[in-house]
Amino acid sequence: MSDLRVRFAPSPTGYLHIGGARTALFNYLLAQKQQGTFVLRIEDTDVERSTQESVDAILQAMDWLGLSYDEGPFYQSERYDLYKSKVSELLDKGLAYRCYCTPEDLNAKREAAMKSGGKPRYDGTCRERTDQPDMPFVVRFKTPQEGNTSFVDRIKGAITVENEELDDLIIQRTDGNPTYNFVVVIDDAEMGINLVLRGDDHVNNTVRQIPMYKALGYEVPEFAHVPMILGADKKRLSKRHGATSVMVYREMGYLPEAMVNYLVRLGWSSGDEEIFSMDDLIEKFSLDNVGRSAGVFNPDKLLWLNEHYIKTGDPQRLGGLVAELLEGQGVSVNDGPDMTAVVTTLQDRAKTLVEMADGARFYFEAPVIYDEKAAAKFLNEEKSGVLELLIKHLGELTDYTLEGVEGAFKAIMDESGLKLGKIGPTVRVALTGGTVSPGIYDVVAVLGRDVVVGRLQKALASLSI
Ligand code: GLU
Repeated sequence: MSDLRVRFAPSPTGYLHIGGARTALFNYLLAQKQQGTFVLRIEDTDVERSTQESVDAILQAMDWLGLSYDEGPFYQSERYDLYKSKVSELLDKGLAYRCYCTPEDLNAKREAAMKSGGKPRYDGTCRERTDQPDMPFVVRFKTPQEGNTSFVDRIKGAITVENEELDDLIIQRTDGNPTYNFVVVIDDAEMGINLVLRGDDHVNNTVRQIPMYKALGYEVPEFAHVPMILGADKKRLSKRHGATSVMVYREMGYLPEAMVNYLVRLGWSSGDEEIFSMDDLIEKFSLDNVGRSAGVFNPDKLLWLNEHYIKTGDPQRLGGLVAELLEGQGVSVNDGPDMTAVVTTLQDRAKTLVEMADGARFYFEAPVIYDEKAAAKFLNEEKSGVLELLIKHLGELTDYTLEGVEGAFKAIMDESGLKLGKIGPTVRVALTGGTVSPGIYDVVAVLGRDVVVGRLQKALASLSI
């Protein structure tokens, strides 16, 4: 065990998107690699936008990706007492103050500031106020006005801002609820997080949060801000660039290992290598190789990786996943051929599990109609002799291994004087309904004698209709 403590802190206002999943993955990998602790915290303080459905969706996506956490999930909505006590503490110490400015006051001040070329910051009207009128108020943090705030980001290097650039941030709203930047500081500190790794859209928050750590007497953690993810057009990744929800890729037939492999390369590299298992990543991942420039989302590469993992995947496991898909489509797989054998015939031809399920259907459902063009060419009157020969030899065959089937076809070719090129398409249309399928010997061997002979007989009968 090392003392590294990292966290993933999603706001449950939607599904887990590509960027969030990458943040979660990087945190998970660091914790695994250094045998640290990975904490999950659900940031559900935005009551209107947070839903249980989103929490479930996020947990499910993390589970699918294999990103297990050591502590949590903790819910910010259950920690309000702590946050309130910290507001009181800052008020008591004079490090925060009640602000009675109305939204109208603030708007007027903002406009005046902009007109005179200044920054639209809060002007500090209530900073030194000592009375406590019976009016709605927010609590603001007294951001130091002199000096600067700086930190050394583990990815971006040194970052400094002048404190006069920083606003007196609201830490508690008029309704008594604490605000995001404040509770993040309390939670990260109280949960002992010593490295905050998150998207670089939070850099501006970090410089606001650091003075609060100090005011609350907490140690400031280290920070690592990961560059954002762009679409191919170099604009911020959004739905315009394709699905951004991790779980939609699952529905499209992607494997979690392909997604993990893809996500990690959005910002991290290890030489020219492209293929990484989770174990490789746990060994190799390091912040030193996280780049400073934005990652570009490339769906073709994700598909390429998926194809790789389908080709090289364990057929038994893939079989289970394909079976689930087929059952979901109403195809009953229990009485059909062995799913592992089915998958083995399809691994070289499918890029996704959905494609694999489509390609596997004929194994479980006899063709109801034949592809019209294919039938005209390969299942016409002239083929009755070949079909009869096929029925005879494949009906007599007991050894339905690849070698056995090959031997039977050799005998059929010898007896008919026809080459495989003349026989194969007829068998394929009869057994699968179309002209695209795995190798014909594979198909015959996997379907087995009863189904093969039954489908050939049906094809023969169709010739005379
Ligand atoms: N809850 C924030 C978000 O979902 C992340 C906060 C953080 O990582 O500090 O964007």
